[in-house]
Amino acid sequence: MAEFLKTNDQRRILHVDLDAFYAQIEMRDNPDLKKVALIISRDPQESHGHGVVATANYEARKLGVHSAMSAAQAKRLAPDAVFLRPNFDKYRAVSQQIQAIFKQYTKKIERVALDEAYLDVTDSPHRSTAIAAKIRHQVMAQTSLTCSVGVSHNKLLAKLGSENHKPNGVTVINPEDVLDFIGNLKIADFRGVGARSEEKFKGLGIENGYQLRALSIETLRANFGKMGDHLYWQARGVHFGRVMWQRQRQSVGKEETFDYPLRQRQQISQEFKKLATKLVTLLQNKQLSGRTINVKIRDDQYRTINRSLTKEGAWPVDVEAVQNAAQQIFDHAFEEEFSIRLLGISFSNLQDNHYQNISLFDQAD
Ligand SMILES: [Mg+2]
Repeated sequence: MAEFLKTNDQRRILHVDLDAFYAQIEMRDNPDLKKVALIISRDPQESHGHGVVATANYEARKLGVHSAMSAAQAKRLAPDAVFLRPNFDKYRAVSQQIQAIFKQYTKKIERVALDEAYLDVTDSPHRSTAIAAKIRHQVMAQTSLTCSVGVSHNKLLAKLGSENHKPNGVTVINPEDVLDFIGNLKIADFRGVGARSEEKFKGLGIENGYQLRALSIETLRANFGKMGDHLYWQARGVHFGRVMWQRQRQSVGKEETFDYPLRQRQQISQEFKKLATKLVTLLQNKQLSGRTINVKIRDDQYRTINRSLTKEGAWPVDVEAVQNAAQQIFDHAFEEEFSIRLLGISFSNLQDNHYQNISLFDQAD
């Protein structure tokens, strides 16, 4: 079974998570707070029992306090705790310092929260573990804060890794270790398993990742609906979600200006063929496709027309299809004589095919 589960995912992903971020910053700025249970939240006595715990230091966590818990409940668990209102301006400033460190290693950064980010370092010449060590060192040197890092080949494993040795730890999950690592997780460690699903799993006699993996996809769907599929793949450490870094391309295109105006339809069709060939190669290299094809035409009077055709699904990334679509747009715009100085074809409404094209089964070796 193990061979069947092997996926050929060549990516290198880090998940970096600052430990008890807000609480750690407050303790750094006021060391007296290190000795007490510290809860970042409005004091329930001031807020008439309202308020939610943003985070808590490890002293408070030992008493059972955790983020998203009501402040009133936290107060019952830790009556002597110090409550501090969050100072988001301060936390944002620290977060920016940390982002600047990440940017030295990759531009592919998905910021999940002020204290948490995924980094895709696949293109870096450095080893993932070296990057993880350097980031931790720099974060400490520049902000005096600790963080935990998970290193693996997808976001799910990187995230599970950073949670594995909290606080102030690094976990590397290599492909050959994935099934054991996942197998040893408690059922509550899986994404999307809350208190209710945990109870349900208990009823089924499922307590860890090995037992989860033994369940069929049908059983999981029957008990957990849509989440059943997620759990099935999580139990195998498979996850193709990409690191959603900010700068997404708006369009991809090619254009050509001519020294002498083109006046024959035959010439136009030849130029469209050249452009389509270049564009298709570009799209294939970037693993992109688009729902909208745009054609730009400029005549010798410098009049420019832009026409688009949008499809329900993606256009085929195919020279003939692109050429024909462009020609059709052209013929419609210029039925009789013309004198053309520029032609361009581009695609917009882009989609990334990189991970959609990967069949889980084709990847098994
Ligand atoms: Mg954190």
